[in-house]
Amino acid sequence: MGWLFYYGVKQMEDIKEVILNDEQLQEKLTFWQKKLRLQDWIIEVRVARASEIERNRAAEVSWVLPKKMASICILDQEDYPRGLMGERDMENDLVHELLHLHFAPIHDFNSDNEHYEIYEEQAIESITYGLIALERT
Ligand SMILES: [Zn+2]
Repeated sequence: MGWLFYYGVKQMEDIKEVILNDEQLQEKLTFWQKKLRLQDWIIEVRVARASEIERNRAAEVSWVLPKKMASICILDQEDYPRGLMGERDMENDLVHELLHLHFAPIHDFNSDNEHYEIYEEQAIESITYGLIALERT
């Protein structure tokens, strides 16, 4: 996918801001669901206001594992806390939340382990970074 796909991309050296509208998010979901082998999941993605998402989160995912159904909320750019979380990249947010679904079975087993969540987040951050970098080369 080329950069033409995006709108609102500000390119300043290495810092890119990627803001997607609902339609573009659906296209990205289809693309990444296939790449990440998550096609057996029923996943919906939508832009959501801050009041619908936990504080200081750029995105959120919830799932029903036995049904392989998931819902992803991407924080509306209007509500994105500038200067707090760096440049906005909604594709990064989407891939991050999708990767949580691969961890979902392990996650549900480790709900009583206080360290588990940190390790899962760290793994997902690194994998997301690598995948996005590869996709944009
Ligand atoms: Zn996460």
